Amino acid sequence: MKRPVCPGVHTRHQCAQCDSSLARDDIAISRRLIGRGISQFYCIRCLAARLGVSQAVIHLKIKEYRAMGCALFPPYKEG
Ligand SMILES: [Zn+2]
Repeated sequence: MKRPVCPGVHTRHQCAQCDSSLARDDIAISRRLIGRGISQFYCIRCLAARLGVSQAVIHLKIKEYRAMGCALFPPYKEG
């Protein structure tokens, strides 16, 4: 069954804390680590600071979720 496309995913998002623009992974990991219902997202730097972990931990988590096949982390593809 096809998942409905979430309209929020492709709009432009900025970090709620530092205003840097966010990649899809940043948004997805914010969802995973803070909560799916959140409307504010953070870049990896601010997210790490917020959670009191290093940025490397966040990158590792993204890798883990992608390896698990999490729907929020589609595999990279060009175009
Ligand atoms: Zn930020």
